[in-house]
Amino acid sequence: MSYRYRCGSCRATSDPVPSRRAARAEQRRHRAREHAGLIPDDESIEPDDDHTIGVGGLLLVLLIGCLIVEALTRIAY
Ligand SMILES: [Zn+2]
Repeated sequence: MSYRYRCGSCRATSDPVPSRRAARAEQRRHRAREHAGLIPDDESIEPDDDHTIGVGGLLLVLLIGCLIVEALTRIAY
């Protein structure tokens, strides 16, 4: 599961990071850089809802598809 840090004051959201801890690091960096270390209003750390399967998932689906086609071909002959 990946997470994003969101700053409501800046209306900005970080890139997805692999853990809540990494999102908190984004939060600290953002506070220091954009808000002089102060805590902005309405900030949050949210789970990333992007459920795309990515290149690895696509290749896996393609491989399974090829195996199914090959199995069907063997059954047909
Ligand atoms: Zn901000």
